[in-house]
Amino acid sequence: MQVRILGCSGGIAAGLRTTAILIDDDILIDAGTGVGDLTLDELRCVKRLFLTHSHLDHTVGLPLFVDAVFETFRRRPLEIYAHPATIAALQSHLFNDVMWPDFSRIPSVEAAAIKYRPIESGAVVDCGGRVVRAVDVKHAVPTLGYCVEAGDKVLAFSGDTTTNRTLWPVLNAYPDVHVLVIEVSFPNRQHELAEQSGHYCPRTLASDLGKLSHSPDIWLTAMKPGEEEEIMDEVLAALPERRIRRLEAGSVLQL
Ligand SMILES: [Zn+2]
Repeated sequence: MQVRILGCSGGIAAGLRTTAILIDDDILIDAGTGVGDLTLDELRCVKRLFLTHSHLDHTVGLPLFVDAVFETFRRRPLEIYAHPATIAALQSHLFNDVMWPDFSRIPSVEAAAIKYRPIESGAVVDCGGRVVRAVDVKHAVPTLGYCVEAGDKVLAFSGDTTTNRTLWPVLNAYPDVHVLVIEVSFPNRQHELAEQSGHYCPRTLASDLGKLSHSPDIWLTAMKPGEEEEIMDEVLAALPERRIRRLEAGSVLQL
């Protein structure tokens, strides 16, 4: 399994992209601004999109992505897997014929360019050699993390979350987890803001990682622009025994 990081920032600025992760060439997790770095040919290869939640930094690239390769998706629709609340938000606020055309009815309902596939925690989707499992996490809106299995390798992505009891038993139930991509949005001095908005700070992340029985390579994501170095210093100080690095757009992980 190849994991290509298209975007992993908690915001935008020159050189920064928001969350989008490409698995091999056909599975996309989230559609933040990072999807804009894919070529037209690469966009055409995407068959399934798994959304963690509705927030714009994870969905803002989707309307323009679908439009850019509409001719491909009218022949073979993009399947959008997401929590029912996320799908409802897309329908009400993005693909609503005001912000953007409703591509779930274009060119017709029967032959639409996008198909919504509602899933909830525990859902398992076989993607031809890659198995994607959804798991509840705890954020400001209903949010799913995803575990992707390929052979005996497991990648886990937390999505946006704060302290939770749901992700860790799922990860611990695998024989091993090789890569964990996990969010930490704010430094410790903004812990109240982190708590209010449903994100980790280094202190709460370190506490939750105490629930993980595996020793994966840990890659940190979704840091707020400008806060990256402070967050990294605090995480590394709190978790000296873990293998932890900062994720960067353009990184390719091989599992
Ligand atoms: Zn969010």
